[in-house]
Amino acid sequence: MTFKGNPVSPGIAAGPVFLYTPFKPQLEENLIPENAVEENIKKYEDLREKAKAELDAIRAKLEVEDPEKAKIFAAHNDILFDDAMDEEIRDAITYDYYSPEWAIHTTYEKFIRILSKAKDEIIRERVADLRDVRSRLVRIWYNVPEKNLSTLEKPVVVVAYDLFPSDTATLDRSKVLAIVTEIGGPTSHSAIIARSYEIPAVLGLQDAMTLLKDDEEVIVDAVLGDIITEADQATLAEYAAKREAYLVKAADTKKYKDVVAITKDGVRINVEQNIASADAMELEGATCTDGVGLFRSEFLYMGRETLPTEEEQVELYKKVLIAYGDRPVILRTMDIGGDKKLDCMEMPKEENPFLGLRALRLSFANLPIFKTQLRAAFRASVNGNLWIMFPMVGSMNDVHRVKSIVEEVKAELKAEGLAYSEEVKIGVMVEVPTIAVIADIVAKEVDFCSIGTNDLTQYSTAVDRMNPNVAGYYQTFHPALFRLIGHVIKSFNAEGKSVGVCGEMGGNPLTAAVLMGLGMRTLSMGIASVAGIKKLVTNITIPELEALANKVVNMATASEIEEYLKKELAELI
Ligand code: PEP
Ligand code: MG
Repeated sequence: MTFKGNPVSPGIAAGPVFLYTPFKPQLEENLIPENAVEENIKKYEDLREKAKAELDAIRAKLEVEDPEKAKIFAAHNDILFDDAMDEEIRDAITYDYYSPEWAIHTTYEKFIRILSKAKDEIIRERVADLRDVRSRLVRIWYNVPEKNLSTLEKPVVVVAYDLFPSDTATLDRSKVLAIVTEIGGPTSHSAIIARSYEIPAVLGLQDAMTLLKDDEEVIVDAVLGDIITEADQATLAEYAAKREAYLVKAADTKKYKDVVAITKDGVRINVEQNIASADAMELEGATCTDGVGLFRSEFLYMGRETLPTEEEQVELYKKVLIAYGDRPVILRTMDIGGDKKLDCMEMPKEENPFLGLRALRLSFANLPIFKTQLRAAFRASVNGNLWIMFPMVGSMNDVHRVKSIVEEVKAELKAEGLAYSEEVKIGVMVEVPTIAVIADIVAKEVDFCSIGTNDLTQYSTAVDRMNPNVAGYYQTFHPALFRLIGHVIKSFNAEGKSVGVCGEMGGNPLTAAVLMGLGMRTLSMGIASVAGIKKLVTNITIPELEALANKVVNMATASEIEEYLKKELAELI
């Protein structure tokens, strides 16, 4: 059988399916008969031993592969045998006749509540560990096998309804052969992370969780978007050969990774990197890129129960700035909302989160958190070449308001005698059509802009970028987008202000070619796209790119444009 989805991160893989459903039990008060106390205490002790056995196995494995992660599981073992909690659980079974899982749930809940209120940050952080251990115990009680993406047993094809950014951020890259999800398009965050990890991914395969079975062998062709089940020997061999050919082509492209991006007629293009953390692996991109065009700082807030402190953020930003020396690092302030939710912050439930209290709007509504981030950024700025930009700016009111908050933060730091660089540039993301249309006015007020084409496409075409039902309407090649972007580039170039692109259009050679033809000289992308873009740049001239752009802005449909670009650039991609 062959199923079709959206290929969003190229590659070909084959392996067993791992159906990923995060465990979420619905617990209710459950009482035991008064004469069954002893038996249930024994059940609780057995449960704890089983949890210990799981933790020991994970720890033993991680001690070899990742000793830092192993420490987390050692701490979980301590929680499991914590005297105070143990006593409360036993009491709840003995005197209140609670069943073991209900006794565990209520006791852990009580400790979680107490720790959440602690003043000490380190104690508060233990809450996430308590939740984790509780979930392990309850899961074992219900006989549900362990599933998460950071401790996979063997290489697998991960199949899920959707992956949260926190799932993708913690997944064990060495064990994930491919990703298949039911929802999500090419610019969803699962897609962006899959590309940056170079994991083949096909998203938007409806009913994937029922069509595919756990442990079933599948082929994932993330070049065409095919998922093949029940493959015979001939098909397996065909795909092995296809994979080989794909890897050879990818290896050829990779040769361009370290070259300087200069067109055949001598024009320098800045090729920058999009990052989501200060991890050593991400910062390796500093060896082959001209800066960080987008630091998605919101990932620092994800997958945790408490907000990152100012000090913690200063250290992280400093690490990135130092890695890049005098090259620019564009920090995008937290872009929470839309498909990015937090455990460490209350968020309203909304009908249309992508049109709701998202990004800068959420920052305005949570000023202390926003200001902490800005303070940390400015304090780190003395270590390099920091630019700060704001997501989802929609009007000049937003621009004025955010600039005045920046001034307040600077004044506070000055009053406290804390150093910051006076050279920090302040800019906006152009991802809401209203701000794109008035780019000529915006360009006079800010130091730079970066075009977020993922959202600019979403908001211009009126298509939710996560919704597979309307994925066909999300037209990256829509001629209106090229015209709109052309206007932004022209406006900023006219003011002598820097303009870049950090959405997925910047890393796709077909669209990047048009943007360069429209005057764009700075492209930022996931690390996996750097070599392909440099290959294009070094084999083409500006007049050739201008001719392409000229043609494209006068075409009527997205499909016509895409076909034309594929044909014209066939040799260079
Ligand atoms: C964009 O919208 O193009 C962008 C770069 O931001 P994000 O994908 O993080 O929303
Ligand atoms: Mg965006």
